[in-house]
Amino acid sequence: MFDVVIVGAGVIGGMLARQLSKYDLKICLLEKENDVAMGASKANSGIVHGGYDPEPGTLKAKLNAEGVQKLYDVADEIHAPYRKNGSFVCAFGTPEEEATVRELYERGLENGIPGLEILTGDEARVLEPALSPAASLVLNVTNAGIVCPYEMTVAAIGNAMDNGTELKVNFAVSDIKKEQDVFVVTSAGGEVVKGRYVVNCAGGYSDRVAAMVGDDFFKIIPRAGEYMLLDKNEGSRVSHTIFQVPSKDGKGILVSPTVDGNLLTGPTATVVESPEATSTTPAGLDAVARLAAKSVPSVNFRQVITSFSGVRASEKSGDFIICPAKSVENMIHVAAIDSPGLTCCVSIADYVIDLLREAGLAMAPRADWCPTRENPHAFREMSDEEKDAYIKEHPAYGKIVCRCETVSEGEIRDAIRRNPPACDIDGVKRRTRSGMGRCQGGFCMPYVMRLISEERGVAMESVTKNGKGSTPLIGKL
Ligand SMILES: Cc1cc2nc3c(=O)[nH]c(=O)nc-3n(C[C@H](O)[C@H](O)[C@H](O)COP(=O)(O)OP(=O)(O)OC[C@H]3O[C@@H](n4cnc5c(N)ncnc54)[C@H](O)[C@@H]3O)c2cc1C
Repeated sequence: MFDVVIVGAGVIGGMLARQLSKYDLKICLLEKENDVAMGASKANSGIVHGGYDPEPGTLKAKLNAEGVQKLYDVADEIHAPYRKNGSFVCAFGTPEEEATVRELYERGLENGIPGLEILTGDEARVLEPALSPAASLVLNVTNAGIVCPYEMTVAAIGNAMDNGTELKVNFAVSDIKKEQDVFVVTSAGGEVVKGRYVVNCAGGYSDRVAAMVGDDFFKIIPRAGEYMLLDKNEGSRVSHTIFQVPSKDGKGILVSPTVDGNLLTGPTATVVESPEATSTTPAGLDAVARLAAKSVPSVNFRQVITSFSGVRASEKSGDFIICPAKSVENMIHVAAIDSPGLTCCVSIADYVIDLLREAGLAMAPRADWCPTRENPHAFREMSDEEKDAYIKEHPAYGKIVCRCETVSEGEIRDAIRRNPPACDIDGVKRRTRSGMGRCQGGFCMPYVMRLISEERGVAMESVTKNGKGSTPLIGKL
C-alpha cells in the first residue's frame, strides 16, 4: 500500500514525486508509456518564462512568479541543464504591438517579476545583432531562461527514485475505485496499485482520469505546437529567446537557442482531436519559418535537422486547474497545465503538497533524503586532460558511439543503468543526446541497440525505438 499514487510521469508528476520524496512516505508514480516524459514534457519550447504574461490574480501568475527561482534552484541540485539567457518580447512598429509591450511590462510588475525593462529596437539590437531591423520596442525579461524539458523530467524522477519512489511504466490507469479509505488503481493490463491519496497529473488525459472518479467539471482542449530544430551551426544566431507580442492564441512563434546549442523555432497553436496528434504539417512548418524570419531574418532554414510537434493540455478557463477532486476525498487534480507549466513544475509540486497536507496527509521530513543527483554529464563537462585520465580507468568512455554529438559507450551504458533506466533507443537519445545530431541516429542506432541488448539482456530483435511495436529489426538474414 502506497501513501501517494501519482498518475502521469511528465514533468509535473515527476517533480511532485521528487518534492514528496523529502518526506517519510511511500510514493508510486504510474505512467502509461514505456518511459517518462512522453507527453507534453517531451516536446515543448523549454523556456523558463519570466512571469510577465499570466493575468494578475490567476494561479498561473502566482505559480510563475514563485516558480522561476525554485526551478533554477532544483535544477542545480539534480543537475538538469539550464541557462539564464533572458528573453525579448518584440513589437514590430505598430502602435497596438508597442502598447502590448508596455502592458506586459506593467503586468509583469504587478505579478512581482524582477529585472524587466523596456528597450528601443536599437538598444535591443546592441544586445542581439540578428534581431530584425523592424523590431521597434522590446520587453527585456532578464530572469527568463532555457532548460531541456525531458532532461528536467528524467532528473526529477531519477532523484525521486534514488530516494525510494517506485516508478511503474506501461501502467495505463483505466479505473480508479475507492474502497473505504483506500484507492484501488487498476491498469488496462489488469495490474493493481493501492494508495491512500491519488494525484492526477495525466496531462492531456487528466479529464479522463478525473472522470474515473466521477469528476467532469473540466475538459481538456488539446492544442498542438509545431517546431523546427536547426543544427548547432545556427545555435548562436541569437543568444536571447526572441518572442513576438502574444496574441489570443498564445505566446507566438519564438526563435531561441537551446541548452544543447541548437536553434529552435516554433510553436504554432492549433486545436487538434487528441493529445496524441503530434504530426507536423507543411502549413504549420511554413508558418513557423515565415514568422520566425519576421523576428530574425537571417535564420538559415537549410540547417533544419528535424521537426516535431507537442500538444498542450489547455482548458477554456485559461488557468491551471489544481484542486481537490469534487466527487471523492483525498484525490487532487493537477490539470490544464499548459504553458508555463514547465517553468512552474516546482511551484506546482509545492502547491500540491500543501493541498495534500490540508487533506490530512501527515508529512514527516526524512533525515536521509538526498536532494542531489549524480551529474549524468560529468564526463562531457571534463577538460581533455581529465577525459584522458578518466578513459584510462574506464575505457568505455573512450569509444565514441554517436559522432555527431560525441557520446561515448560509457555514457550510454550509464543511461541504461541509472534511474529512471532508458529502455529503448529514444530513451537513450533523450538522456545522452545519442542520435540527436545532424544524422539523427543513422550512424549510431545499431551500436545503441547492441548496448541496450547487452545491458538489458534482451535480443537485438526485441529492442524498440519508442515503445511497443517499434522494433527496427524483424529478424536475422
Ligand atoms: C507546444 C508546447 C510548448 C510549450 N512551451 C513551454 C515553455 O516554453 N515553457 C513552459 O514553462 N511550458 C511550456 N509548455 C507547457 C509544458 O510543456 C507543460 O506544462 C508540461 O510539460 C506539462 O507536464 P505534465 O506532466 O502535466 O504533462 P505531460 O508531460 O503530458 O505528462 C502527463 C503524463 O501522463 C501520462 N498519462 C496520461 N494518461 C495516463 C493514464 N491513464 N495512466 C498513466 N499515465 C497516463 C502521459 O503518458 C504523460 O506521460 C509547452 C507545452 C507545449 C505542448
